[in-house]
Amino acid sequence: MRLVLLGAPGAGKGTQAKKIIEKNAIPQISTGDLLRAAVAAGTALGKEAKAVMDKGELVPDSVVLGMVEERLKQDDCKKGYILDGFPRNTKQAEALDIMLGKLNMSLTAALSVDVPFESLMKRLTGRRTCKACGQMFNVYFNASKKDKICDKCGGELFQRDDDKEETIKKRLDVYSAQTAPLIDYYGKKGILKAVDGGSGTIDEIFVKVCKALDLK
Ligand code: AMP
Repeated sequence: MRLVLLGAPGAGKGTQAKKIIEKNAIPQISTGDLLRAAVAAGTALGKEAKAVMDKGELVPDSVVLGMVEERLKQDDCKKGYILDGFPRNTKQAEALDIMLGKLNMSLTAALSVDVPFESLMKRLTGRRTCKACGQMFNVYFNASKKDKICDKCGGELFQRDDDKEETIKKRLDVYSAQTAPLIDYYGKKGILKAVDGGSGTIDEIFVKVCKALDLK
């Protein structure tokens, strides 16, 4: 299965991707995670990316496309993958089509996780991530049992720099202007599947995801 995950920041794409992986052992390729790894490693690319990310804007297409192309060539992608947070605009989507053509691959589906705009703010400002294992919590809906400590591995929880309120508004604006048009892009290709990610628990939403993707 080769999947593109679409949805606004805070829609729960990453969370649903992790659930899909539990059923289908394929890699989750999150351009946000790849960029954050470059930031943490302090590479030149990471330093350049951090300034853009902290403003809530998109990192230049050339940077992201190079990273994705390298990643898709790795062996573990032969059995499929989930692209999470990529493509982010029409130019990236077109470049992905060309890249996949060269690699003799085609997308199985584009899954859009739809969440009303009003809910996204709380989801994003409340989001906390484990430094050690990446597990996500939310101080409003799904708090860890001990403050700032991961229930799963005991690691320290942190708030992403770009989950601060000032940056979030910008990220949501960027999503509406640049990423939301991809729903139409994949709709026209006939591979769009949409699920309501705005109500219900993570597991209830996952049931809808499985139905939409015909996951057994
Ligand atoms: P995410 O974790 O997907 O919300 O991404 C966090 C930030 O990383 C975004 O706000 C962008 O600044 C940057 N980013 C992630 N994916 C992309 C992409 N495909 N194109 C450009 N910038 C990206």
